[in-house]
Amino acid sequence: MSTLDINNAVTRQRDFFNSNETHAYEFRITQLKKLQKVILENKERFVEALHKDLGRPEFEAYFELVILYDDLKDAIKHLKKWMKPQRVKTNLLSQPGKSRIEYCPLGNVLILVPYNYPVLLAFQPLIGAIAAGNTAIVKPSSLTPATSALIAEVIKATYPDKYVSCLLGSTEVTNQLLENKFDHIFFTGSPNVGRIIMAAAAKHLTPVTLELGGKSPTIVHNDCKLDLTVKRILSGRFLNAGQTCIAPDHVYVHRDIKEAFLEKAKEVIVDWYGSDPIKSKDFSRIINERHFKRVSELIPKDRVVVGGQTDENEKFIAPTLLRDITHDDDIMQEEIFGPVLPVLEFSDIADVCQQIAKLPQHPLAMYIFTEDKQFEQTLVKKIRCGGVNVNNTLMHAVNSHLPFGGVGESGMGSYHGKLSFDLFSHKKSVIKSATWLDIPLRYAPYGNKVKLL
Ligand code: NAD
Repeated sequence: MSTLDINNAVTRQRDFFNSNETHAYEFRITQLKKLQKVILENKERFVEALHKDLGRPEFEAYFELVILYDDLKDAIKHLKKWMKPQRVKTNLLSQPGKSRIEYCPLGNVLILVPYNYPVLLAFQPLIGAIAAGNTAIVKPSSLTPATSALIAEVIKATYPDKYVSCLLGSTEVTNQLLENKFDHIFFTGSPNVGRIIMAAAAKHLTPVTLELGGKSPTIVHNDCKLDLTVKRILSGRFLNAGQTCIAPDHVYVHRDIKEAFLEKAKEVIVDWYGSDPIKSKDFSRIINERHFKRVSELIPKDRVVVGGQTDENEKFIAPTLLRDITHDDDIMQEEIFGPVLPVLEFSDIADVCQQIAKLPQHPLAMYIFTEDKQFEQTLVKKIRCGGVNVNNTLMHAVNSHLPFGGVGESGMGSYHGKLSFDLFSHKKSVIKSATWLDIPLRYAPYGNKVKLL
């Protein structure tokens, strides 16, 4: 795609947005319903494409589609209510008058998509952009060629490109897109690329939402329900072969139950994936050679409890459990983003808080397993992180009534459900002053008028 083609794609959307066609409720709801139809019609093809790109098991692929579908249904059901201007109070200084907030589209939006949940993370922000009356360009990752091609095909078949379009290609395409002015950039990906996106956006003073990653800690207290805890952590860690932004990255287990935790985890891993896990139909592959090498090299062979097998041809890394890891190990210096779970230990709440403070950034998610409310609440209040799930993993990202996003270096801004609509809307303040009465207080000459304070 040439520079001219890319710039033209942006210009066409700018002109279309200026026609105001995208603003009306009827227009927006029609586009959301079209999206719902086309996603349903193509669900099997998406599942197939996800399998091709990531070796994704069918169940896990449907999981991605179901979350998307739930958000879409929610937007269709509530759009009219969301769009309604909100009446607010008018204070004494502004009387007589009436005040309201109008939800206006931002304009032309750019959505940049990572490789790990390519369907969800292309369309979930798009739902918000459409609901809020914007135009959008979607740029999927080049690491998922089959899924990205299908996303482009589906978008092309559903929308005129002056309204929503999908551009494929390498990072050169992204860089050229970023030369253009957008009204909002929604980026999901790594903190390092997030910095590049934010710097490019700054040139045009374009606001950004950054949905990033990081090391999400899991804390397992000695009073937890151990069997349940182990299963819920492992399912969050090994989904999509660990390539989930909010996957439990590592676990701090209370020293009293560390051995029991390791024993149970080993048993569950073998039970779920067998003693030769490369043969399991329920386990994804690593996206490319670079990430395969990166994750493989993070595994300290002498501390593997179970797993550790790799196959470069298949880009397979077995579900792996590590023991006796500390913050000095390489694996604790970066987001793992693979099917490896390091286990650390802690003695009390102060100890675990000190260890979490050593992480390279504020986590995107935190998981706490305990029956002790005091323990739970202390951690929820004390640890700065994007979101928390108590006694489970990943669930806070599935509930569209909760804001989803990071804090500090794990992200900026949040979305899902109504919050996606809010994110892609400008909240315009409108006050209508009455004309039946005019209080001359603010007109000159001020002379001896009363002091206001
Ligand atoms: P990435 O940052 O490498 O790529 C994200 C997007 O940016 C892709 O479309 C890619 O093509 C583009 N890109 C990559 N390098 C670029 C460059 N130099 N210039 C311009 N564009 C560039 O991320 P990834 O490897 O695709 O995904 C994994 C990361 O994303 C992890 O860190 C993960 O935690 C994070 N993530 C976060 C969320 C979330 O919702 N917070 C969700 C999924 C993934």
